[in-house]
Amino acid sequence: MVLAQLGGSISRALQQMSNATIIDEKVLNECLNEITRALLQADVQFKLVRDMQTNIKKIVNLDDLAAGHNKRKIIQQAIFNELCKMLDPGKPSFTPKKGKTSVVMFVGLQGSGKTTTCTKYAYYHQKKGWKPALVCADTFRAGAFDQLKQNATKAKIPFYGSYMESDPVKIAVEGVERFKKENCDLIIVDTSGRHKQEAALFEEMRQVSEATKPDLVLFVMDSSIGQAAFDQAQAFKQSVAVGAVIVTKMDGHAKGGGALKLLLTKSPVIFIGTGEHMDEFEVFDVKPFVSRLLGMGDWSGFMDKIHEVVPMDQQPELLQKLSEGNFTLRIMYEQFQNILKMGPIGQVFSMLPGFSAELMPKGREKESQAKIKRYMTMMDSMTNEELDSSNPKLMNESRIMRIARGSGRHLREVMEMLEEYKRLAKIWSKMKGLKIPKKGEMSALSRNMNA
Ligand code: GDP
Repeated sequence: MVLAQLGGSISRALQQMSNATIIDEKVLNECLNEITRALLQADVQFKLVRDMQTNIKKIVNLDDLAAGHNKRKIIQQAIFNELCKMLDPGKPSFTPKKGKTSVVMFVGLQGSGKTTTCTKYAYYHQKKGWKPALVCADTFRAGAFDQLKQNATKAKIPFYGSYMESDPVKIAVEGVERFKKENCDLIIVDTSGRHKQEAALFEEMRQVSEATKPDLVLFVMDSSIGQAAFDQAQAFKQSVAVGAVIVTKMDGHAKGGGALKLLLTKSPVIFIGTGEHMDEFEVFDVKPFVSRLLGMGDWSGFMDKIHEVVPMDQQPELLQKLSEGNFTLRIMYEQFQNILKMGPIGQVFSMLPGFSAELMPKGREKESQAKIKRYMTMMDSMTNEELDSSNPKLMNESRIMRIARGSGRHLREVMEMLEEYKRLAKIWSKMKGLKIPKKGEMSALSRNMNA
């Protein structure tokens, strides 16, 4: 079973429990049994699942909970916490420090997204004020150096490689030495992902590692490989001291089984790749991950992204509106304008449950943009009163007919737009009373929202 299915099954079990009129032993057991079934189907070890059940039952002692207690919330919180515990990855063997030279060697099979991820990793750190550099020690694949060079040039990151030299060890050593001299604090070495024989690939990796003495070996893995993830990770670990893992292609459809497998084996996943673009890359953090898995939205990631992509001068206004929780059609209009104007802001909204998945599904950006433009044309035919009201009852039949006529659109389309508004307003309303965090206060916010 893949991640999305697992998340869906668990959230359905939680929802059913929430819908029950009375929460008693039977309802709790049914909910836990459903979750157990989903986890076992996802190949989670029986012992882990049984321990989780026992822990939840210990925490949620229905007899001891007085009538006033919100049992639903206590059960949900216990399940959330246990899932976080179960999926919490181990710690990486080393964490580079800004301003202090570190060598990070990337390993992984060809096609896993290794070269792309090297640049994403460099770019992520560069944005945070680091001085990264890229070394291409993949001499096996024709075009590997070109790809790295192109990516690096685009991101304005210094790089090193050669079209002539065929010895990857030599290139790796030269590159690392050169960037050490240039005081780069994050020297990233990309290695080959394929060879004529597997043994030769691992031998080459070992040699590059011995020669460059990396502080951290990062294993890059495609999340879609599912159950094979564990074996693949083991094979790499046997040749080099893998210290951390990056899981790529977490944006793919019905994928992610590999990520689950790695997390369950406590492999230290530190980042995830969520798309082909340079900035589709996120720090892996178990709480937002589980929140998203269960469709609860990733509040901390959302606030992080706001700080990252919304222009500074627009941030206070947007955050203020968020904390007021009053989502009017005018706010929707303004956010649509933002989405159309600045690509990355769309990413901000993809962090909210239901926002982007339905409004702007990946791979269908063109259609989504057309839809947003259509909605905006209809809103252009609205009065100020309609735009500034958050009372859904205001939009009666005659107003809807007037808007349809005015914008030359179908009645059905106006209704669809208003439905979309209602859906977004519901999500937005969850932000009401939000304490607006400053940078660096995100995890506290995440705790609050998940509580
Ligand atoms: P390498 O052979 O391991 O170096 O893999 P590449 O970096 O060449 O990537 C292989 C393909 O995967 C390319 O088409 C990348 O654009 C794509 N890719 C890499 N990371 C991601 C990701 O997180 N999401 C998606 N959708 N595609 C990715």
